[in-house]
Amino acid sequence: MMSDSQTHVLSNSPHDGDKTKEDNNSRNSNNLPESEIAVEIISEEEMALIEAALAAARSSASSLSSSSFSRSTYSPLKRTARSIESITALSKRRLPTLSGSSSGHDIEDSGQWKSNQKNSPATESLLTRFRRRKGLYVTDITSTEWCEKQMEFLLLLGKPEITTAMRTGNIRHAKLAEEVVKRVKVSVKSSEDVWALKFMNFIVGANQLLLEGLTRELPLIGFVEGVWMVGVIDELRMPVTGSDKNPILVDTKTRVQAKLPGEPQQRNGRLQLMCYKYLWDNLVANNFPLRKFYDWFCLNPDNILSDEIKKSSADAGFPAETLGEMMRYFINACSVLPAAHDWLLLRYELQEGNFLLGEYQFPYDINWVKTQIQHCLKFWEGERKASYVSEEEQWKCRFCQFAIVCPSQSDLNGDSSSQTI
Ligand code: SF4
Repeated sequence: MMSDSQTHVLSNSPHDGDKTKEDNNSRNSNNLPESEIAVEIISEEEMALIEAALAAARSSASSLSSSSFSRSTYSPLKRTARSIESITALSKRRLPTLSGSSSGHDIEDSGQWKSNQKNSPATESLLTRFRRRKGLYVTDITSTEWCEKQMEFLLLLGKPEITTAMRTGNIRHAKLAEEVVKRVKVSVKSSEDVWALKFMNFIVGANQLLLEGLTRELPLIGFVEGVWMVGVIDELRMPVTGSDKNPILVDTKTRVQAKLPGEPQQRNGRLQLMCYKYLWDNLVANNFPLRKFYDWFCLNPDNILSDEIKKSSADAGFPAETLGEMMRYFINACSVLPAAHDWLLLRYELQEGNFLLGEYQFPYDINWVKTQIQHCLKFWEGERKASYVSEEEQWKCRFCQFAIVCPSQSDLNGDSSSQTI
């Protein structure tokens, strides 16, 4: 058990800057030099990608005609309540330019998007092309549920520009995290370091939950439905009354408008939280295939961790020299954790003033979430083509940054602007 002065750390890279969410869970696992370690987004993508289109449209028309790609950034954290240190990270992948188009009018001619297709054999599934050695993010699942075609565009053409609304949401989440977590910088020199830090953050966060009843920004990873899935849960809190000892998973969404979202957004939020519970319950059931993990992410469990990480883990009370040792601490930590509560909590806050707009509790439905993930994976694994939004949800297209190139909009845009990717 850790003392009050112990340290909780997660991965950090000198090239990472902004705070993101699931990003802590997804990095290139090759033994790359520090400057080349790829980090995937994780920040406020919860609302970002899901509400990206809406936010983009709200913020300004110009955001619909431009797209920017930033370098990976990292924001270390330090848990304050008990001097527990942690790190959260946010990153954006830089996407290479489109290698070609069969059409006379290349969508890249507009300069709106950069393609991510270069060097990616089209015969490979999206999962293999874009999530190799990274794992599938929970936000990949929710973004796919929102619109599969939009998810495909995001992968092939690049992420939308970060808008004011998205940035405001990120800041709010960072503030919530900093109530229990303080950022600190920790350098990483290998993929083993990156993962060791993530697992260290999990252990410290889990201990904080048990000792203090609350933790935030907890990285999760698990092997579910045949794929590695990663995510960062906003908050876990222990019930304050009764004998119930199962932590409640909480996700906070920030809203530009002072009203609760419609059913499609709420459904998407439910899916996200259920994915987190699925991952959590899977972990605490000691269902973590270590060998598979090392193989998929190309990690060497005997690789000696950096001095900084070794010191941080020793300070935290679980001295680990290698990733393999860290994994033993991680698995031990998981073995004493209870399953998550069967009721999940979605919170909606107004961005301006952080007023609570509403809280929504709903029951976990394992069959539903498994069905959703399996359906989603058929798209990711190339078993079927991306589908468009349903007729009832075609309003999403009005705020979609890819509407101009989406075949579903060809009638509106004219055939010349619709492209096959
Ligand atoms: S325009 Fe509509 S169907 Fe096409 S990608 Fe965007 S949201 Fe999906």
